[in-house]
Amino acid sequence: MSDLELDWATDLGGGTRVSLVQAGSFRSDAGALFGPVPRMLWGRLVTDEIDHEHRLIQALNCLVVETPAGRVLIETGIGERVTDKVREMRRYEGRPIVTALEAGGFEPGSIDIVVMSHLHFDHAGGLLRADGSKAFPRAQIVAQRAEWEIALDDNSRIVASYDQPELRLVREWGDEGAVDGERELLPGVSVLRTGGHSHGHQAIVVRGTGPGASTLAFFGDLGMRPWSANPRWVTSFDDFPLDSVEVKGELFARAAEEGWLVALSHEPVTPIGRLTRDRDRYRFEPV
Ligand SMILES: [Zn+2]
Repeated sequence: MSDLELDWATDLGGGTRVSLVQAGSFRSDAGALFGPVPRMLWGRLVTDEIDHEHRLIQALNCLVVETPAGRVLIETGIGERVTDKVREMRRYEGRPIVTALEAGGFEPGSIDIVVMSHLHFDHAGGLLRADGSKAFPRAQIVAQRAEWEIALDDNSRIVASYDQPELRLVREWGDEGAVDGERELLPGVSVLRTGGHSHGHQAIVVRGTGPGASTLAFFGDLGMRPWSANPRWVTSFDDFPLDSVEVKGELFARAAEEGWLVALSHEPVTPIGRLTRDRDRYRFEPV
């Protein structure tokens, strides 16, 4: 399980293609991932996966979106700039984003836009190479302006959840592409601010065109794993849990009604699926 290398790609129509690129994995405390949900309800879902330190494997799922107007990378994983101590502490394993992209046949210099759901270490860590150079030299970096602001806040919980020294190194680069709210980055590729997990968290929606076109959504850490399909199952890492519950309810309703494909941010084995309504919640059905 250490080297996740799932191969998945699909055409959404009109020359838009989405490919999954897994940039390694790390581990997170299982209880923290289930937040307010009692262990009695979630324990049986993870019996095969939970390790002796009560942690779960979190894949670092990234997506490459190829469109006639340009190439977009969604998320960058943890990257190359981690000390051995942090690598061990997080149980970070596998290929960093640049190596994973190259293995998938994607040249990092060909990426026009890098869009991140938010700026936590496991999403924004891959912007720089080990030597401090830009991993995606031509790319514009897109995150919400509100996310840049909160990420560098001095609240001690914020200081603990973002890698602020690293973010300061890319702040100027990020400023150029910062967005407010909803924005179409390229024809068919849009972001919308969700908040919830973090103050400036955003979702990314990719729409194909033409007959039989389909839509794929990446809900960032509002949709980490299959059980995230229940809007009330939010993690302890969500800074604004009531907002998460509300926005998940709205977005998941649209995804279910319109049959969107959904890519999960940290699911190692079945990261692509669809949401179906199940009473007052949703179910994630892998494809
Ligand atoms: Zn994450």
